[in-house]
Amino acid sequence: MFSLRQWHGNSNWQNWVGYVTAEPEQKLAPSSVAELQDIIKSARRNNKRVRVTGAAHSFSGCAKPEEIAISLHNMRGLISVDTEAKLATMHAGTYLYEIGKALKQHGLALENMGDVQAQTIAGAASTATHGTGLTLGSIANQVVAWEWVDGTGEVHTHQRGNPQTDDLGNALHASLGMLGVFTKLTLKVVDLYGLQERNEVLDFEEGLARFDDTAHAHRHLEWFLFPGTNKLQQKTLSGIEPKPMSSTQKLKDKFDSAITLNGAFYVLCELARMKPSLTQKVSQISASSIPNTKREGYSYEVFPTPRGVKFNESEYFIALSDFEACITEINDILLKDNKGSHFPIEVRTHKGETGMLSATQGEDCAVLSFHVYKGMDSEPLFDWLYEYMKKWQGRPHWGKVNKLSHVELQHLYPKLDQFLQIRHEYDPDNVFMNRWLEQKFLGHASS
Ligand SMILES: Cc1cc2nc3c(=O)[nH]c(=O)nc-3n(C[C@H](O)[C@H](O)[C@H](O)COP(=O)(O)OP(=O)(O)OC[C@H]3O[C@@H](n4cnc5c(N)ncnc54)[C@H](O)[C@@H]3O)c2cc1C
Repeated sequence: MFSLRQWHGNSNWQNWVGYVTAEPEQKLAPSSVAELQDIIKSARRNNKRVRVTGAAHSFSGCAKPEEIAISLHNMRGLISVDTEAKLATMHAGTYLYEIGKALKQHGLALENMGDVQAQTIAGAASTATHGTGLTLGSIANQVVAWEWVDGTGEVHTHQRGNPQTDDLGNALHASLGMLGVFTKLTLKVVDLYGLQERNEVLDFEEGLARFDDTAHAHRHLEWFLFPGTNKLQQKTLSGIEPKPMSSTQKLKDKFDSAITLNGAFYVLCELARMKPSLTQKVSQISASSIPNTKREGYSYEVFPTPRGVKFNESEYFIALSDFEACITEINDILLKDNKGSHFPIEVRTHKGETGMLSATQGEDCAVLSFHVYKGMDSEPLFDWLYEYMKKWQGRPHWGKVNKLSHVELQHLYPKLDQFLQIRHEYDPDNVFMNRWLEQKFLGHASS
């Protein structure tokens, strides 16, 4: 979890896995919009570049602060709730783990979440962080109004309009901090609900045969496909009456986090790191040790799962209609050569969204995430993935590792140039750029 003391106590900055590092000249944590405006105005005058970082949970370089780093850790919390309209306005630095409990007081909840909750709401919205669900979209899609400070220090607000015609709203959706620093976000929320999670291990063919029916029958379906084993863990979440997670379950989660994830899985990962030839065996052992389990509680208690072991990650969105062919081929390829990875491949679904940089590009998608244990070389798997995903026009998650060039991205995101024109209006002097963004969006050579 983010700690301001640690942030100020260390002159370096690094992302969660520790692979993206920076030595910003200044690390600032404003407490008000006015203070933030002064920081941005001064940076612009002095030709300095600013990057606001959330919980540094992005694997890509999108948050890397090269000159001035800003944290909104002092700008957190729920501001107002409209229970009739089901709208919640919050400060942009609010962490996801703070939102569930705060909304519960009003009988409300986030419509969907990913599988961890350490991120800030602005960071998660800026990369279009998502969970799973055929009819459910990203955190960015839940945002219906933004307040932000642009690259000249001016404050703007915008209410999302008709998604087909609202160009500014579609640019703000997944904008990686390139239009400015969000200070407040209003989210469309839903009535408080509970979730029941079930896990079972299936043979690949059985899981695939059931995929469509299972995805329709449950609020959420997620797979963890163990490379080189022909086995997968099927996780479903079904909506139930809201009720708190039992203290026994909370204790079990803590135990699983400490013993299973930090203990047994960590030992297996270390084994794979020390002897990469054992990765397939490790994948097999992991697949065979998944218990059939059931968890229940408020949605915000059930969505997050403990992540005891660190990894690097790359993720691609493909058309849902291509999913069966694509995943069958991937399973076959990894049965012959697991590309040195023993981490399960995560499979989720995502409804289409209209954001100019949305990785869905308006179509319902399957989302495939590939992980490599920290300390092991992720290049072989990620390089293969980069080439392989061209076949399916795979579009990358902005917060995860990808090697796509500016030209390749322009091809996959036809509105990228329109996005850049809008961006230019709000950041004419490129105060909010870093080298990673320049490479991806402006076509500069990689550093
Ligand atoms: C263990 C782990 C699990 C994850 N699980 C999921 C998952 O289930 N689903 C998923 O989709 N992703 C997942 N991710 C990726 C993660 O959700 C995204 O990368 C997310 O953007 C990180 O949020 P953050 O608050 O840490 O922001 P950062 O990573 O610090 O920043 C992300 C981007 O947001 C910008 N930004 C931050 N704050 C602001 C602001 N106030 N105004 C404007 N721009 C801002 C930054 O400049 C940067 O471009 C996971 C990552 C990790 C490490």
